[in-house]
Amino acid sequence: LASALMDYRKKPLGERSRSLNANFVLPLRTSDSNILGAPQKQSEPAASAADVLPIPSTLADLDSNMVRQIMRESMHKYKSVAWDDIAGLEYAKSTFLETIIHPLKRPDLFKGIRRPPRGVLLFGPPGTGKTLIAKCIASQSKATFFSINPSTLTSKWVGEGEKMVKTLFAVAAAHQPAIIFMDEVDSLLSQRSDSEHESSRRLKNEFFIQLDGAGSNEDDHIVVIGATNRPQELDEAVRRRFVRRIYVRLPVAKARQMIIQKLIKEIHHNLSDAQIEELANLTEGYSGADMDSFCRYAAMQPLRALTTAQIDVIDAQQLPAVTMTDFTNALQHISKSVSADDVKRYVTWNQSYGVQS
Ligand code: ADP
Repeated sequence: LASALMDYRKKPLGERSRSLNANFVLPLRTSDSNILGAPQKQSEPAASAADVLPIPSTLADLDSNMVRQIMRESMHKYKSVAWDDIAGLEYAKSTFLETIIHPLKRPDLFKGIRRPPRGVLLFGPPGTGKTLIAKCIASQSKATFFSINPSTLTSKWVGEGEKMVKTLFAVAAAHQPAIIFMDEVDSLLSQRSDSEHESSRRLKNEFFIQLDGAGSNEDDHIVVIGATNRPQELDEAVRRRFVRRIYVRLPVAKARQMIIQKLIKEIHHNLSDAQIEELANLTEGYSGADMDSFCRYAAMQPLRALTTAQIDVIDAQQLPAVTMTDFTNALQHISKSVSADDVKRYVTWNQSYGVQS
């Protein structure tokens, strides 16, 4: 579900392209987002402003089509995501503040020995809010947000992934402070055998060069946030570049309660606080994305009971309230997507390589 959601969320919002070097302004259209801040699918713009924008002189040596493609497909603007939109994960927030948000806002304070690491890895089960966190960090730090999917780097420009990585970092440098969010880093940078394809190897090397370069230049304010559901596949060279490795866990009961409360805030329901707490206890092991599906399923129940003829004429105000029974029934249809064994593997990896909290 999380990856399906992501596929449409990562569509470019090209019609809102901004001029080069402009500051990142948030929030944007509130209609772009659902209740928890995830942007909805956008219709493709007829022509992107990125296609006609002049390319800054610092990027003149690069392939202009590639520069434009990156600007069009990777520079994203989302509705502002606040910390409160992310349920739980309190332990991680101070790490984000210290390593990313404050330094991007006040690079003059965080320099020299106080200079933060350039690479931060978010790892944990799918649907736990890694993408949401990256967007929140981008909104809180007012940085330009680049969201890169492995397929953007590998499929469109076959064999040119290396050049694409170089171009991406150059475009990010022209739009500092910038956050490059790389989802599924494992598929791009995972440990590979000798049979590793030459172009993948070159792409990986270029990525390391860029990450090391972004870390060594005092004037670069680029942070790379990698996300993965499979941290075990990252080798030592990758781990070394992602200095901070933060475990994004399944939400605890209190966080699940918060997610339910937020999701049902705007619908007509008759659940008491005690019942919401009970539902949070009944959903042990559910990810944030599972909670989202679960609440959506329950919220549909009053509509499912209607005939097509009733749907045609019913007044929205007349819809019956969503009840506790609707939610307990939904539990039969939407179950947790992460197994206890999977969780154990994340815990073990976190003990070896994560930031301990
Ligand atoms: P990931 O990147 O870890 O796979 P996402 O950030 O894409 O997960 O989460 C998918 C959706 O699940 C989010 O858009 C949000 O609706 C919900 N969600 C996940 N985790 C949380 C959380 N901690 N708090 C609130 N909502 C969450």
